[in-house]
Amino acid sequence: MNVVYLDNNATTRIAPEVLDAMMPYLTGDYGNPSSMHSFGGRVAPVVEEARGHAARLIGASPDEIIFTSCGTESDNTAIRSALAVNPDKRHIVTSRVEHPAVRELCLFLARNDYRVTEVPVDSKGRLDMDAYRESLTDDTALVTLMWANNETGVIFPVEEAAGIARERGIPVHTDAVQAVGKVPMDADSSGVDMLSLSGHKLHAPKGIGVLYVRKGTRFAPFLIGGHQESERRAGTENVPYIAGLGKACELALEHLPDMNGRVRRLRDKLEQEITARIPHVKINGDTENRLPNTANISFEYVEGESILLMMNEYGICASSGSACTSGSLQPSHVMLAMGVPFTMAHGSIRFSLSIYSEEAEIDFVVDKLVDIITTLRAMSPFWNNDSRPAAGR
Ligand code: PLP
Repeated sequence: MNVVYLDNNATTRIAPEVLDAMMPYLTGDYGNPSSMHSFGGRVAPVVEEARGHAARLIGASPDEIIFTSCGTESDNTAIRSALAVNPDKRHIVTSRVEHPAVRELCLFLARNDYRVTEVPVDSKGRLDMDAYRESLTDDTALVTLMWANNETGVIFPVEEAAGIARERGIPVHTDAVQAVGKVPMDADSSGVDMLSLSGHKLHAPKGIGVLYVRKGTRFAPFLIGGHQESERRAGTENVPYIAGLGKACELALEHLPDMNGRVRRLRDKLEQEITARIPHVKINGDTENRLPNTANISFEYVEGESILLMMNEYGICASSGSACTSGSLQPSHVMLAMGVPFTMAHGSIRFSLSIYSEEAEIDFVVDKLVDIITTLRAMSPFWNNDSRPAAGR
């Protein structure tokens, strides 16, 4: 059975060019870039070349790029660093819809002598800017806000938020794991001090990430040991993965127009056909300001898990909630924060496309979904078979 992979916010396939770029360093060229001999030394430029590609993709300079093991490490490092360099400040501002890589750490810190304000979002997942402004205090050590949401694709006004924080001298971190490679980005002019990205969201392997740290930002490393990454992240460099990430960043920059043109049109087609052919569906999130590849759709009177299972029979991969929270029957914290009614939140499915997505796949998914939703609703006690909700619902 062919796989129709519409779960690219969970992870992406490794691009063939990326694998090619990695192979020499997984085989013959296995030297340590810190070695004195030339066999090791000759891989050092590979790391620097990759650093250059990562910097270009996000609009930074190479010396502002630190390679890490993943997006989660980048997020944790940024947050812990901001607190470590400013030990007298005990307040963190974040949002209600962050990924667990930020949210769970903030909740942990809230249990350990920090105050955390989670700024609310409205029913479209947009940040409440008045509440954000009011949340900042003289005791605020850090603002950490995601660039784009992994479940809905909604883009936060990170630049505006950074400007407001900067006026008060508060450092800003952004989790840009979902945004990098999907929307143009200029870290330099964005006003953020730190920014996280993750390789496996942009066709590099799992287990490699980047933390951007603006020049001049006070920084405390998370991993302490050797002198790698200019003393900012100890541990022998993962050369093959760094080489792969560099290639992935180079490709992502080239593919930005395709992502924002063809892929966006495919995503829009998916939504338009679903809403035209299936009654009682709702698009979740701010459709005016979203990642071009993400659609989050609620199918009323059916359970997301059942839809996923039936789509799986046809080889269709998507998510209900984020991959990290699925498996639990609780609606996601993102849907709850947006006030999506429980029955809608339960029936929400995230489809996330990539530059490898094709129109025939979208047509296939829509056709199958029409059957799947009809079948599931026919079994639902909340639905009568005249294609409408049962009385009283
Ligand atoms: N932040 C966001 C918004 C994400 O979507 C993810 C992964 O799903 C992460 C952070 C974590 O990245 P990683 O899987 O590389 O640790």
